[in-house]
Amino acid sequence: MAEKILEVRHLKKYFSLRNGLIVYAVDDVGLDIRAGETLGLVGESGSGKSTIAYVLVGMYEATGGEIVYRGDNIAHNGLYRTMKQKGEIQIVFQDPGSSLNPKRTIRKSLKAPMAVHDRGLSRNQMNKRAEDLLEEVGLPAEFADKYPRALGGGERQLVSVARALATRPSLMILDEPTSALDVSVQAKVISKLTDLQSELGLSYLFITHDLSLMRNVADRVAILYLGRICEQAPTADFFEKPLHPYTQMLLSSIPVATREEEALKPARIVSSGEIPSPVNVPSGCAFHQRCRDMMPVCERDRPLMSEISPGHAVCCHLYANGSF
Ligand code: SF4
Repeated sequence: MAEKILEVRHLKKYFSLRNGLIVYAVDDVGLDIRAGETLGLVGESGSGKSTIAYVLVGMYEATGGEIVYRGDNIAHNGLYRTMKQKGEIQIVFQDPGSSLNPKRTIRKSLKAPMAVHDRGLSRNQMNKRAEDLLEEVGLPAEFADKYPRALGGGERQLVSVARALATRPSLMILDEPTSALDVSVQAKVISKLTDLQSELGLSYLFITHDLSLMRNVADRVAILYLGRICEQAPTADFFEKPLHPYTQMLLSSIPVATREEEALKPARIVSSGEIPSPVNVPSGCAFHQRCRDMMPVCERDRPLMSEISPGHAVCCHLYANGSF
């Protein structure tokens, strides 16, 4: 089995508001990523998935917990990570339109990270590398002298991928990388990301609200609810035997293409209520107000994660004794 390059333990990120309230955006999250694998992190809007991304790349400092990257805990040194660590963990944002500077040519945008992380490169070498990066993501080298506005949405997102590759990363955080794109373009970008992963041995944390997308993209899936992981499993196991009531609710509502897939889906569970505010997290299990299986203990005690089968863990009182 490939080595773990990232181990996140009891990660917390809270934000204090001016009125004294606290936003519990990420609360006791644990996950691992191995070399060359894709972990799909799935959650509704407001579940804290982008906050996790920003903490992992050092844009936010963690409130608590550990982020162990290749043996070093980097949770509390966001701005002070080594250049090597910064270069090796890169992020691709959802909207390439706002993440690329419209006043810079693509060449300039691609050279910017090289100027910081690869100071030994001459100007000619940087120009050549910028063009090579474009070709690596399937775009013509001539795009280097265009501005972002001259490109389509999918092309701009591939430029963002090329820019992330400029520092030779090991781990890429893909924060909803296709959700701002037309459906026809999404498949091309995902296919290129998959090719790059095999060619370069990259690890991906693929963040999305689209659970169905994970079936063919992720090796493992983790479900996030109100800043907490409620279930993690290898992808095949996850889609065949979803355990957590929230996961079952999500899976029961995703569209499927074939009768075989329909037969594997849990019976339709009507979603009740909205995701509560992370300022006012319910006591005990954060899902208890929406859960059809709620028991008295759920309102009182926060459930712990239990591993039910190899790699398949769930955080729910229904499985508290490892029962299944
Ligand atoms: Fe439902 Fe209780 Fe499980 Fe929470 S712990 S998901 S409320 S059964």
